[in-house]
Amino acid sequence: MESAYVLASRELEEIRMNNQAEQSRRHMEVCNAIPQFAALETELMKNGTRLLGCVLDKCNSFDEIKNSIKELQRKKAELLKEKSYPADYVNDIYSCEICRDTGFVEGKRCVCLKNLISKHIGANSNLTEFMRGQTFDKFDMSIFANQGENSQRVLKVMQTVCDTALTFAESFDVGHDNMLLMGNAGTGKTFVSSCIANRALERGKTVYYQTAFKLFEIFESSKFNREDDEAPGIVKYVYDVDLLIIDDLGTEFVTQFTSAALFDIINTRITAGKSTIISTNLDFETLSEKYSQRIASRFIGEYKILQTLGEDIRKIKRIRH
Ligand SMILES: [Zn+2]
Repeated sequence: MESAYVLASRELEEIRMNNQAEQSRRHMEVCNAIPQFAALETELMKNGTRLLGCVLDKCNSFDEIKNSIKELQRKKAELLKEKSYPADYVNDIYSCEICRDTGFVEGKRCVCLKNLISKHIGANSNLTEFMRGQTFDKFDMSIFANQGENSQRVLKVMQTVCDTALTFAESFDVGHDNMLLMGNAGTGKTFVSSCIANRALERGKTVYYQTAFKLFEIFESSKFNREDDEAPGIVKYVYDVDLLIIDDLGTEFVTQFTSAALFDIINTRITAGKSTIISTNLDFETLSEKYSQRIASRFIGEYKILQTLGEDIRKIKRIRH
């Protein structure tokens, strides 16, 4: 997987090429529509060269040349106007006037390049369009209030989950925090993960989301190291990304290979100070049984454990609609 910066630079290069192509096309169009136009431009160019020579040699026809350039420019503008072209129709075209599509202003990244980078960071995150829309301001507590006699308790727990998740999203990189999100299916684990992911992206952090099932499939596939396969690139990204989210651990087919891969991901990322969120429907006991003891001990030692509560909100939503 290529870095967001490389992808953004490539897109900027494409923007430059498209603008240049459009400018050439307009120039050709004007030269065809106005027969004198090309000759006028040649004359302008000659005068420009003369002017430059004059500056270097300190000749005394400087003002004369300057005036003739002005006159030629006036004629050019007049011709364009006669044919109802905008005055700047054949000028260079820039999508960003601030940096003239170079991506940099005084050695710093221009806002247009920053926007392109965040767009590609978002695309690399593998979050679906739906998940990209899940943010903390859409965390609707009332959804948990409809759970019969348990409502008050569920509400209280989910408020804590939301607060903890928000704090995590704001500072996981500072404290090198990790999170194990536990809870039954449909109690909002993916929603909480998406909220954190979107906030992290907003903060300019790189994020990669994947279900455990698909993640280990990618790891299996990368073993064969086939050309044109994107798996090895993704595997590298899984280790490098600022925030890794493994969703639904326990739904994959656990083998020695997947268990070893999981331990390696968890351990390498802890050592590198990179944050990971893992969500699972399994309880802690099953988790320890299914994976190795060393994985369970990493969870206990290095992960904040957060438990969602309540009934399947997707079912509740369905009833309410
Ligand atoms: Zn710019």
